[in-house]
Amino acid sequence: MHVAPIATEELHPDARGVARACALLRDGALVALPTETVYGLAGDARNTAAVAAIFAAKGRPAHNPLIVHLPSLEAVEELADLSDEARACARAFWPGPLTLVAPLRTGHGLAEAVTAGLPTVALRVPAHPLAQAVLAEFGGPLAAPSANPSGRISPTEARHVLEGLGGRIAAVLDGGPCPVGVESTILGFENRRAVLLRAGGVSEEALARVLGAAPAARVTDDRVTAPGQLASHYAPRAALRLGAHEPAPGEVWIGFGPGCAGAELTLSEAGDLEEAAARLFAVLHAADAMGRPIAVAPVPEVGLGVAINDRLRRAAAPRLT
Ligand code: AMP
Ligand code: MG
Repeated sequence: MHVAPIATEELHPDARGVARACALLRDGALVALPTETVYGLAGDARNTAAVAAIFAAKGRPAHNPLIVHLPSLEAVEELADLSDEARACARAFWPGPLTLVAPLRTGHGLAEAVTAGLPTVALRVPAHPLAQAVLAEFGGPLAAPSANPSGRISPTEARHVLEGLGGRIAAVLDGGPCPVGVESTILGFENRRAVLLRAGGVSEEALARVLGAAPAARVTDDRVTAPGQLASHYAPRAALRLGAHEPAPGEVWIGFGPGCAGAELTLSEAGDLEEAAARLFAVLHAADAMGRPIAVAPVPEVGLGVAINDRLRRAAAPRLT
């Protein structure tokens, strides 16, 4: 279906920008907002047409449910039943880069497509002051997946949003670069046992300190919806090679740590995982713009390195299309 382009408004990070974002959201329009993880493509989670527009703008498959964003734990508990374990995680990490999957309460009022028809819903209270400001003024649940075409590199700056979705969404609220830079950790519960559904901005080590043990399993979110496949996601246009101690001729080399002095781009010269996570998608966008194959130095599989490597593996995975 051909959709006529619309002029995407660029909103400033002030009271007027927040008010305009809320007015558009109340009209059922889509607004990209900064969160501490990545820019989210927000729409009213109770509005069937707005939720359908999110899937259409991203080209997102309908079986992939959305995360619902709310201003507080209290607001979350009106929509879903949290177990004691889930509530302990909420208290420890909200507002912040953790998403909890919990059973829906009756009368939740969410559009059915938000949860892809599941009896559970994914919920997050974001910490970014602009996301908080919009949620407080909007006064309702916002569905907000990453503000990029499905399968492409996630946006951590407003210009990434415009590159991917400009002309297809009503507005982007420009809050500068996202400080965490990788998506939220997603935690579900099966028979009260915590299950890691996606590695992200809260490390497994940090979760283990609250839960008393590391989450029981590590499954990527795409395996939940596409069993047995390491789906291509977060993908640049060019081929991407991992664990590269040096570049092959013609490759753009992305370094990590002090041993990568000759790298054209770097995730973190100092080898700092938080800095690397914050820079990851911007560096991938920059490498992609160079139009050459990409090679990435090894990143240790600890702390935020788990989420970074998860995104890199999926950026490198064979494309299904
Ligand atoms: P995002 O693409 O960042 O919006 O994250 C959405 C992801 O959250 C989906 O791809 C699912 O893997 C996960 N998710 C959302 N809702 C549920 C749910 N009810 N049960 C399990 N996983 C969910
Ligand atoms: Mg996404």
